[in-house]
Amino acid sequence: MGMTESISFSEIQRLCAAEGLTAGGVLSPVPQQLDSTWLDRMEADGLGDMEWLQRTRTQRLHPTHMMPEAKALLAVAMAYQPTAECGELKRARYTAGKDYHHVLRSKLGRIGVILGQRCGSTSKGRAAVDSAPLNERTLAQMAGLGWFGRNSLLISPEVGSYRLLGFLLTDAALEPHHAGHGEDRCGKCTACEKRCPTAALVDRRVLTTRCISYLTIEHKGIIPKALAERFEGWWFGCDLCQSVCPWNRFATEPDDARLRGREIDADLLAITAETFDQHFARRAIRRIGYERFRRNLLVALFSLGQQAACQMILAEGLPLVCAQALELGIKPIADL
Ligand code: SF4
Ligand code: SF4
Repeated sequence: MGMTESISFSEIQRLCAAEGLTAGGVLSPVPQQLDSTWLDRMEADGLGDMEWLQRTRTQRLHPTHMMPEAKALLAVAMAYQPTAECGELKRARYTAGKDYHHVLRSKLGRIGVILGQRCGSTSKGRAAVDSAPLNERTLAQMAGLGWFGRNSLLISPEVGSYRLLGFLLTDAALEPHHAGHGEDRCGKCTACEKRCPTAALVDRRVLTTRCISYLTIEHKGIIPKALAERFEGWWFGCDLCQSVCPWNRFATEPDDARLRGREIDADLLAITAETFDQHFARRAIRRIGYERFRRNLLVALFSLGQQAACQMILAEGLPLVCAQALELGIKPIADL
């Protein structure tokens, strides 16, 4: 291949498949400026503790900010475990296995090195998985990976929405490729809106500060009682608007064994401040830290009406948990 010839999409697909990834699409050249409608609406609805979205707004709307010399942007997808954990206390499916940020970023990193070498460049490119200031959902849609459902998630008509998205900015010249999806296929379905226990889905968007996923993962303070009552036992994330989506009947199993759940998180109450890090080692749950983990358990148990278990959590005396208990009207037994 000549230095200026672009790398074909079929070759990119092979590289991705070797890493257990589906090559979705390639944007080449990288768009300079993205439409801000989605961010504007989120900001207007309220970002809660995700003010970093506002802080990084300029970067998010200008994808080359992260790598000005980038010639192309590769969008990939990786399936996560589509089966649910059983039991009353529930966490999002994607947390079953290892922290996907690390798994996906290292795969993209290896692909970046190979693409760079193929073009005679020493650059490894820049991989972005969730944490980088990139407007990922807009870019994925532009690359043809799916449409935004009423649950506001990107849905592929081939595999649904139980998948993680990753991006690689590279200075290698890649053949542009549109994955071919984008047409709205929700039709008259409103299953996700009806199922959302906190009425967070309105007008094809998530009202951040009502969403269980936000409240259990991003929100640092007290969860309002009116919402906590409706948690249905969720203690980390929430999958309800995905589990009712008919397109997820096409979900596939993860290729990478690290993304499969080995165990049900049994005996959550027995996890202590000392064992938390070890119990959730290399899993996304660890990111919220022990105190928020206990706050979430308190709220989840409260929503299930399990008062005795709430007392066990409260007895530890963690400040955030005590403040949350006050909000929920749970009094320590000694005060009764
Ligand atoms: S994740 Fe749960 S709370 Fe959030 S919008 Fe979906 S169903 Fe509603
Ligand atoms: S549940 Fe129905 S309305 Fe919601 S995203 Fe899926 S197809 Fe669209």
